[in-house]
Amino acid sequence: MHYQATVDTLLPLAEPTSRSHRGLPHQQHKLAKRLRHQVGRAIADFGMIEDGDKVMVCLSGGKDSYTMLDVLLQLQKKAPVRFELVAVNLDQKQPGFPEHVLPGYLQSVGVDYKILEQDTYSVVTRVVPEGKTLCSLCSRLRRGALYSYAEAEGFTKIALGHHRDDLVATFFLNLFFHAKLSGMPPKLRSDDGKHVVIRPLAYVREDDIAVYAEAKQFPIIPCNLCGSQENLQRKQVKRMLDQWERESPGRIETIARALGDIRPSQLSDPTLFDFMSLGARSGAPLPDAHAWLAGDMNEHGADRDD
Ligand code: SF4
Repeated sequence: MHYQATVDTLLPLAEPTSRSHRGLPHQQHKLAKRLRHQVGRAIADFGMIEDGDKVMVCLSGGKDSYTMLDVLLQLQKKAPVRFELVAVNLDQKQPGFPEHVLPGYLQSVGVDYKILEQDTYSVVTRVVPEGKTLCSLCSRLRRGALYSYAEAEGFTKIALGHHRDDLVATFFLNLFFHAKLSGMPPKLRSDDGKHVVIRPLAYVREDDIAVYAEAKQFPIIPCNLCGSQENLQRKQVKRMLDQWERESPGRIETIARALGDIRPSQLSDPTLFDFMSLGARSGAPLPDAHAWLAGDMNEHGADRDD
């Protein structure tokens, strides 16, 4: 298979004279530029990469991680800082996983890489009850293996290929199913405090990634080789977002922008905004809820809600 390495050689196009393809190279060029611009901006906005970083680029073989690696390699050439990129894939031993595909591609683009091997597939199929989705445990085990490797090899950043639509979907998952205003941040410290995780595609639309991946002919390896399905809640949220976008184009972008424009004083979390001091006329301690409710009785001595 032939792989193209630079953005300027995007797509082996159909006949240039073909009416239906006229203008395509220009559009692809614009798309490539937009992706570089969005990734560069996310890196700058969140301080994702600094001089001397050793970045582990997690590569699953899906369109998102291929695109992330491709754009980072382009940016690396002209970046204002020097940093190292190493593509790392975990071969989880799913039946039918085409082991030769990623090494072939990575050698063709000339990036350092490492393929780790761990049979998490046997673990999840043994542990997860029949009929339940495997993805949650599978992802946890994958993360564990990748993070351990990052620690052992001294990587200073771990780059994951989540994009704008993943960030928005996670926000609604947490809102609907966990009653939390919380999402998937573009940069975070891992729970054990050992790693800094970055999401350079945080501003990039999934649709753009799909078009780019197709144009670049990335050798995609489907994630569902194992036959598992993503969980129903995530599917439900995706369906809802797709419908919103169909009915009101641009809505997902609006929501994504809102995730970066948060006003704690306009929400209701007293741990984020000091509502107690707002308008307080003296420094005297205010009575708590218990003190307020203790006096909440009607004339018969019963609680007013009774
Ligand atoms: S589809 Fe299969 S390989 Fe992909 S995350 Fe789910 S369980 Fe893991």
